[in-house]
Amino acid sequence: MATGAVPASFTGLKNRDHHGLGFAKSPEFVKVSNLQRVKFLRTKVNVIRNSQNPGSETAELEPASEGSPLLVPRQKYCESIHKTVRRKTRTVMVGNVALGSEHPIRIQTMTTTDTKDVAATVEQVMRIADQGADIVRITVQGKKEADACFEIKNSLVQKNYNIPLVADIHFAPPIALRVSECFDKIRVNPGNFADRRAQFETLEYTEDDYQKELEHIEQVFTPLVEKCKKYGRAMRIGTNHGSLSDRIMSYYGDSPRGMVESAFEYARICRKLDFHNFVFSMKASNPVIMVQAYRLLVAEMNVLGWDYPLHLGVTEAGEGEDGRMKSAIGIGTLLMDGLGDTIRVSLTEAPEEEIDPCRRLANLGMRAAELQQGVEPFEEKNRRYFDFQRRTGQLPVQKEGEDVDYRGVLHRDGSVLMSVSLDQLKAPELLYKSLAAKLVIGMPFKDLATVDSILLRELPPADDEDARLALKRLIDVSMGVITPLSEQLTKPLPYTMVLVTLKELSSGAHKLLPEGTRLVVSVRGDESQEEFEILKGVDATMILHNLPYAEKKTSRVHAARRLFEYLSENSLDIPVIHHIEFPSKIHRDDLVIGAGTNAGGLLVDGLGDGILLEAPDQDFEFLRNTSFNLLQGCRMRNTKTEYVSCPSCGRTLFDLQEISAEIREKTSHLPGVSIAIMGCIVNGPGEMADADFGYVGGAPGKIDLYVGKTVVKRGIAMEHATDALIQLIKDHDRWVDPPAEE
Ligand code: SF4
Repeated sequence: MATGAVPASFTGLKNRDHHGLGFAKSPEFVKVSNLQRVKFLRTKVNVIRNSQNPGSETAELEPASEGSPLLVPRQKYCESIHKTVRRKTRTVMVGNVALGSEHPIRIQTMTTTDTKDVAATVEQVMRIADQGADIVRITVQGKKEADACFEIKNSLVQKNYNIPLVADIHFAPPIALRVSECFDKIRVNPGNFADRRAQFETLEYTEDDYQKELEHIEQVFTPLVEKCKKYGRAMRIGTNHGSLSDRIMSYYGDSPRGMVESAFEYARICRKLDFHNFVFSMKASNPVIMVQAYRLLVAEMNVLGWDYPLHLGVTEAGEGEDGRMKSAIGIGTLLMDGLGDTIRVSLTEAPEEEIDPCRRLANLGMRAAELQQGVEPFEEKNRRYFDFQRRTGQLPVQKEGEDVDYRGVLHRDGSVLMSVSLDQLKAPELLYKSLAAKLVIGMPFKDLATVDSILLRELPPADDEDARLALKRLIDVSMGVITPLSEQLTKPLPYTMVLVTLKELSSGAHKLLPEGTRLVVSVRGDESQEEFEILKGVDATMILHNLPYAEKKTSRVHAARRLFEYLSENSLDIPVIHHIEFPSKIHRDDLVIGAGTNAGGLLVDGLGDGILLEAPDQDFEFLRNTSFNLLQGCRMRNTKTEYVSCPSCGRTLFDLQEISAEIREKTSHLPGVSIAIMGCIVNGPGEMADADFGYVGGAPGKIDLYVGKTVVKRGIAMEHATDALIQLIKDHDRWVDPPAEE
């Protein structure tokens, strides 16, 4: 495998210093000859300015992390790191809808009907448009579907529906050419438009082979670009993490770098032909990868002086709260950085169901950008935004003389804290169950997905022995109990951790507590540096980062980044929990989206050790599940089976929603196992990304089963396929029986 090539997005880069970078003569490739020698030096290279590259003069490259062979541009990936400022883009016209930074964030989805069924597709597009979508995508796999597209368009226009239509194309250049005559935009997947299906094998490519394939792409892609120019169509160069070409994989692996380069191969052809009415997307089912890929894309565009808009999405996000959460983590994170001009929340649900969460997410991003929410400027030196590196807070250690074990109050893979009311203490068994503790003769024990600590805003009176006993039993199993300073001073409860603000700390009020009391410090993140200084002298068990929800101008994400920067600069390794107090009556989707964006946006950068969500009138179980979903979505703590399920489209060969529900019901108790449920083999296996097992529609009524990306059983009758999947999981020793109900 050829590694260490700097992508051709740096076409025209020339070495300016001698830190082991040696570039080949080809203008398309610059090779890193000896990466071992590139330690952690920031490497400066000149960018040759030409008509295609009016951008910055100097690009700075540096290894993504110490010793990493991945070179990343040091260039900025967003307009501002301390506030939300929308990235300036050109305007791209999709039919009558304008995309880009001067326009609202556009919302879109994709039909799930058989494209050949013109009436059903038209009906569905109308339902989607009525829900307020700006753009609709339709899969176009062959000639019959392309023919149907003309009828679909005509029929919609006759019914006064002028919503722009996008053709989703895989492996079919002639079909793309045909449909560009009637649709407003063509989505091409650079992983498979001109290339054969990826073999997922390590192939050797010489530069010559590579060059020949690029020429082939140009030959195949040029007619489509010319036609889009002629008809005034738009295009999306839509890279997918799971379906990169063999060529790209051989040089870059299935990395964010490979995704960017894959898109740039096509973008360069568009630019060469003076076609600029296109947008990029970098989708992945893993929000962490997705975020990194978009950031890298923008950083490289900044180097090149390109200003194409972005379509954001997390693929195969799944259904319900899982799907909403994954989308919020990926899309919301980027929106907070001012990135994204059109979005799709891809759910395994009816397409019209996607529009509402999509709009909520877009509104959140628009509002942050309009108000330019943020904090005062600060220098950010420690956050790694191109490669994931978790800042791990120091987990509590047992101190001499402590009578209870505090080591379990936080979890190394990410903690979930919950706010508990006095009322809940009246029914201890119910409380233990709702904390997801195991019960053995009425006594609680911690399990895989048990809440780690609780916040008690009010302590029970000193004479309420039952409530105090209920709390003692939790403390005995190393569940942390946190209570405000005023409560602990008036109704002291032994072994409680005490919540103090920075102000209380500086006033010395905490000194009224018995020596050795564990402290939890609540910090907003926008305090002055002087106020932060007090953290240096405090032995805090954890920090709760909590900025009031009602803050308009100050952004939680940026305030937290500022706090983390301070902690890193001062070598303070206190764990930080993201504490969000939602207002009463908040819509559930807003809560999930708000948590995914505001806490997930930090966790994907490795910033944070857990989550505490409060919402006065929300169901306790919903809040707990949302918290665990958030940690799993950010690839921190796995407490259930991970599902990658496609949203379905006109290619889907079975009822995805029904089958997905059936599989989830039988397999959801397997943390650490990931299962992909994909509607077709055209694109499914490629897009399963890193799933352990795959359930893929092979033909009508027939399912193929995969282990990784290898098909191991073909053509299983639908009615036996779920059992066959379970057997496959058992055969690979990944199965455990579901826990018996007590
Ligand atoms: S996997 Fe197949 S059926 Fe599912 S959305 Fe992708 S193309 Fe459509």
